Amino acid sequence: MSQSEITICYIIGAVLFILSLGGLSKQETASRGNWYGIIGMLLALVAVTASEEVNAYGLLAIALVPALIIGWTLARKVQMTGMPQLVAILHSFVGLAAVLVGLGLQLDPHSVAGLTPIETLIHEIEVFVGVCIGSITFTGSVIAYAKLDGKMSGKPLILPARHVLNLIAFIVTIWLGYQFMGHHEQSFMYLLIAMVLTGILGIHLVMAIGGADMPVVVSMLNSYSGWAAAAAGFMLGNDLLIIVGALVGSSGAILSLFMCRGMNRSLPSVILGGFGTDGGGGETVETPEGEVTAVESEGATELLKNAKRVIIVPGYGMAVAQAQHTIAKITKQLRGDGKEVLFAIHPVAGRLPGHMNVLLAEANIPYDIVLELDDINHMFSDTDVVLVIGANDIVNPSALNDPNSPIAGMPVLEVWDARNVIVMKRSMGAGYAGVGNPLFFHDNTSMLFGDAGENVDAILAHL
Ligand code: NDP
Repeated sequence: MSQSEITICYIIGAVLFILSLGGLSKQETASRGNWYGIIGMLLALVAVTASEEVNAYGLLAIALVPALIIGWTLARKVQMTGMPQLVAILHSFVGLAAVLVGLGLQLDPHSVAGLTPIETLIHEIEVFVGVCIGSITFTGSVIAYAKLDGKMSGKPLILPARHVLNLIAFIVTIWLGYQFMGHHEQSFMYLLIAMVLTGILGIHLVMAIGGADMPVVVSMLNSYSGWAAAAAGFMLGNDLLIIVGALVGSSGAILSLFMCRGMNRSLPSVILGGFGTDGGGGETVETPEGEVTAVESEGATELLKNAKRVIIVPGYGMAVAQAQHTIAKITKQLRGDGKEVLFAIHPVAGRLPGHMNVLLAEANIPYDIVLELDDINHMFSDTDVVLVIGANDIVNPSALNDPNSPIAGMPVLEVWDARNVIVMKRSMGAGYAGVGNPLFFHDNTSMLFGDAGENVDAILAHL
């Protein structure tokens, strides 16, 4: 392929990626957006492979074919509940790739051949920044993977003077960068030390974040992986990689801001960690106690039959129980009986940004009855029955009225304002943030214990 043909492919690819992001921002157009992304990526792969610089097709096949098979198999096998971990580990690959590209270029004497001193300096900055961002992304994403997969405790690790430690690591990294660009004989050693140091920084930053703040980590690492890809694009002089990296980096940063806004946190405080420990005040967190009212599926069905307006609040447990398809049938039945049925979506429900929207879309729930927290919170007081399906942290009143709660200040769905609340879960156990939930002891709350999948099946049968 000639250079101009490759440039045309890159421009089309870049336009497709922008269309893809635009499409993914709305449920109605998400599927089309996904296809734009797939076609753009295929075009990019073909253009790179067909370029004159690539001729080691044997090596490329050894790398690509197993990667395609592993990627295809994983994507087919992964459960919706395993998506956050998969996304986290995929981010780590982007970071690792940026590190390897940087190290490879530094070891390759031809990479600076024929460059002017100023071009060499720019090249070195690209390599250093690429390796450091890549290293933070790699180790941070591996820790996020371990936390999301339950291989490591979700609790934040708070070292004494952690902010000072982070600051020292940052300053030393800048010093190493300065040395890297000045002392050519030991440059590689400075680069390696910076790689290890930023790797440790990545581990420390993500270890310090825990509990209910994990969603922001996932979107932050998404953003880092974009910047790591952009850095690799600069190192390789690949315009499309720079564009894609910048798109992913900036959209991940915007998503992180939205997630922070949804949780009433400031971005710097989440990045620097420490939330989800003890609420900051050192006071004891109140453990809710009192009488619990249990209900069977027949009783829950009666409440639904007598209701005019029903709001369904899905949470992580709905994803575990894969209850969305039966819920769609219940919704259809209730709407057919003339009742108003709405869905309330919390920005951090589940384990992935947009997790619940994806599940509801998969079950063909109409988009116009799915409302976000801000649009639905005022409606609970005029609602007969709220059906909480496998949600816990996102409906926890202590976020609003217990300043010592680890989730204090996080906006929640104020379901307790409704006349009746039915909570479906298997036990009195806590949710992801590990906080007890006083909602379960409210007079108007009935607990429908058991697997949400079995319980919704029973309700549908009774209906
Ligand atoms: P939670 O984790 O707070 O609660 C889920 C509840 O579901 C559990 O208490 C569990 O109770 C119940 N459950 C699990 N399996 C089943 C089942 N088969 N049937 C019935 N119930 C079940 O989830 P929420 O959605 O309320 O809140 C999300 C939490 O996850 C927040 O703290 C958020 O910060 C965090 N998070 C979110 C991410 C995101 O991007 N959205 C990423 C990482 C973390 P029991 O065991 O008793 O059944």
